[in-house]
Amino acid sequence: MSLKKIGIIGAGLMGNGIAHTALLAGYEVVLVDAVQAALPKAVATMTKNMERQVQKQTITAEDMHEALPRLTTTTDYAAFYNADIVIEAAPEREELKQKIYAALIPNLHAETIIASNTSSISITRLAALTDRPGKFIGMHFFNPVPMMKLVEIIRGIATDEDTYKTVFALAEKLGKIVATAEDSPGFIVNRILCPMINEAIFALAEGVGTITSIDAGMKLGANHPMGPLELADFVGLDTLLSVMRVLHAGLGDDKYRPSPLLVKYVEAGWLGRKSGRGFYDYATTPPKPTR
Ligand code: NAD
Repeated sequence: MSLKKIGIIGAGLMGNGIAHTALLAGYEVVLVDAVQAALPKAVATMTKNMERQVQKQTITAEDMHEALPRLTTTTDYAAFYNADIVIEAAPEREELKQKIYAALIPNLHAETIIASNTSSISITRLAALTDRPGKFIGMHFFNPVPMMKLVEIIRGIATDEDTYKTVFALAEKLGKIVATAEDSPGFIVNRILCPMINEAIFALAEGVGTITSIDAGMKLGANHPMGPLELADFVGLDTLLSVMRVLHAGLGDDKYRPSPLLVKYVEAGWLGRKSGRGFYDYATTPPKPTR
């Protein structure tokens, strides 16, 4: 099945980046958010980011001027009536996603694929909330979407082969490289990355190294572009904690237990870059380690 029109639910961080990427790849995009004010904000962000790409010469001004008019924004799911696929990028709360699918489905034709950008909820369980588990799939993009090359594609137990092939082809048309993952907690990237960061926090709490030495160790000794504690602040410590809880609950192995120090930082409201303080304090440049 070839796709022309892409619907996106949620004009936040991820929905915005997915819309940006799809517009530049030549698709018509309908972007829906429950909050009216989020829509002009998303358009302004997309415009600013495309202008930056023009300056960097990764796209031309013509690409940008052709892409933006392909976008429609609205708060009304009825605009999805002729979408070939709807990608849901609403907040990571299962009961909210359930409500969204219930409101969405009466507006879709029978062939429309539904993809969720969830980072941690079971695709099989989400699919079962819809009228079309065969046409439901996980399409997990990474932040910032226009820059990050990977998309994880996750088949639920009922996802049919045509849906998988169509979504795989879409990811490639968006310029992404696909890693196909089983529907298991954390999929591939978070399953491996989050326990590594969590282990760095255990090492910090046990005094194995300081924040600076742990980050320098992994940057210079393992060639990681960012140290694990810097990366924790970038991802958000609350997000990291919730992924660790999903891994711990879903896989039932104590090796996934969240570090008590991570829990303490989140309880303090020290969530990383977004709150101005996490393992580093961002009030100064360069940021200062907080322990
Ligand atoms: P966000 O909070 O930035 O954006 C969510 C948007 O959804 C908001 O604009 C909100 O107004 C809107 N929304 C809420 N209820 C809605 C409804 N009923 N209908 C339409 N829109 C509604 O969140 P985000 O960071 O973009 O995350 C979205 C999804 O992507 C989550 O499932 C998250 O787990 C996943 N994800 C996030 C990241 C990340 O780095 N932030 C990476 C990969 C996947």
